[in-house]
Amino acid sequence: MIEVSQLQKSFGSLDVLKQITFDVNPGEVVAVIGPSGSGKSTMLRSLVHLEEVTGGSILICGRALVENGKYASGAEIREITSTMGMVFQHFNLFPHLTVRGNLELAPRTLKRESIQDITAKSEALLSKVGLADKADVYPSMLSGGQKQRVAIARAMMLNPDILLFDEPTSALDPELTGEVLRVIRQLAEGHMTMIIVTHEMNFARDVADRVFFMDNGEIAESGTPEEIFGNPQLERTRTFLNRE
Ligand code: ATP
Ligand code: MG
Repeated sequence: MIEVSQLQKSFGSLDVLKQITFDVNPGEVVAVIGPSGSGKSTMLRSLVHLEEVTGGSILICGRALVENGKYASGAEIREITSTMGMVFQHFNLFPHLTVRGNLELAPRTLKRESIQDITAKSEALLSKVGLADKADVYPSMLSGGQKQRVAIARAMMLNPDILLFDEPTSALDPELTGEVLRVIRQLAEGHMTMIIVTHEMNFARDVADRVFFMDNGEIAESGTPEEIFGNPQLERTRTFLNRE
């Protein structure tokens, strides 16, 4: 479903992604862990074209976003990236729109569905994340956990095939992380394909089918949660896990 090969990204002389290669299968949940600055966000952002890579290939459902460093056309890029939803650490909600407005902006702009269908879907998704009663409030009225659940519902509005999460609970007080993790867990149980960058090791162990340990611009080690957490092969993986 996601095929990444030899992905390379540098900022000036800094090599942030060094020939990264991996696949993600349909319905698979991948957790990405690793130290600050190891390239986790850059890797995730590259998949949705929030960063332009300097080499390598990204295929999404068999379609090349970038192939050997050469990007598809603007229209193709928009089509391919619209099959993915992304959730950020700091929610990135539009403050001037209500919760409903946040959910409905992209689908109303794209006009692929009728207004009635869009409204029905936003209501269904808000119920799913436990926020049916918040449709008409503004983000400033919500707790961090509620904002993040809105962001997840918004990411679901275009029926994505893939969801990407960049530290979805890192900005939350500990008592609010549970409600967000519960929603992500529900999505995993519904076999949504997901890549989740996280510092929540217990959650990664619990929800992921596979874990990637990123270090210094590479996927240094990958395996099942049992392998990575139970029997890490590399000294640097062990060192990282002992610190967390
Ligand atoms: P964290 O756990 O702190 O979020 P990360 O693993 O997500 O870290 P990235 O944000 O991907 O790391 O950053 C990887 C490296 O790329 C870092 O050294 C960072 O300073 C550098 N970097 C990221 N964005 C830029 C940019 N726009 N310009 C220059 N350097 C950047
Ligand atoms: Mg990051």
